[in-house]
Amino acid sequence: MRFDVLTIFPAMFEAVLGDSIIGRARDAGLIELNFIDIREFSTDKHRKTDDYPYSGGGGMLMTPQPIYDAYMSVAKELDYKPLTIYMSPQGRVFNQKTAVVLSHEGHIILLCGHYEGVDQRVLDEIVDMELSIGDFVLTGGEIPAMAVIDTISRLIPGVLAGEGSYENESHFNGLLEYPQYTRPQIWHEREIPEILISGHHANIEKWKHEQALINTYNKRPDMLEKVELSEGDTKFLEEYQRGH
Ligand code: SAM
Repeated sequence: MRFDVLTIFPAMFEAVLGDSIIGRARDAGLIELNFIDIREFSTDKHRKTDDYPYSGGGGMLMTPQPIYDAYMSVAKELDYKPLTIYMSPQGRVFNQKTAVVLSHEGHIILLCGHYEGVDQRVLDEIVDMELSIGDFVLTGGEIPAMAVIDTISRLIPGVLAGEGSYENESHFNGLLEYPQYTRPQIWHEREIPEILISGHHANIEKWKHEQALINTYNKRPDMLEKVELSEGDTKFLEEYQRGH
């Protein structure tokens, strides 16, 4: 999986994505990350990448020329058009389902805006999709792009230590994950659920699924409206509700 990020702050990315799981995945060649400094492509003598908006108002807008040339520095080497995503609060809200779909893309270009945003014409020319990380406004697209790269990368086979270990995680199947416990068995007089040391695999799996249902019911009941529950799950939740 290859990501090319167009940004005026490339150093921010190395600091965050250079280490840990993503850093190791890069070293192992499972993902390729390139951070392209838009400023280097500016033809302005002061390497400016922004200007005043014609519509007035406060703030600056990123100009089209440096962004387009930065984009072309990647695109001109290719005989295909990589999916090009503009990180934007106006985009469709990124979620785990979208991450799974995007993890099959092979090559994605991410454009990070700054200031008041980006001149619409360059967006019309190069962008295939706008993605938001939520209904709030950040100062730049760098943090959103990092969130997207991190989320997609851990879905690439081989990136996580246990193959498929994301499949039980929150949001993968429309539910939140069950509560997890590690050593010690007793901490601050709190014991882990006994079932987890029973050695009974089938019962443990059943417990995990039921706990995921309870967790989702308590923390994100809106998610249960979107997921198709089995008859058994519905009955289990009804009984749980009656008891609470
Ligand atoms: N004036 C723009 C608007 O109202 O739609 C907001 C611009 S914002 C201050 C600057 C940049 O931050 C955007 O160009 C975008 O790249 C990024 N950004 C801000 N919020 C975002 C979000 N929720 N998701 C993705 N990117 C975001």
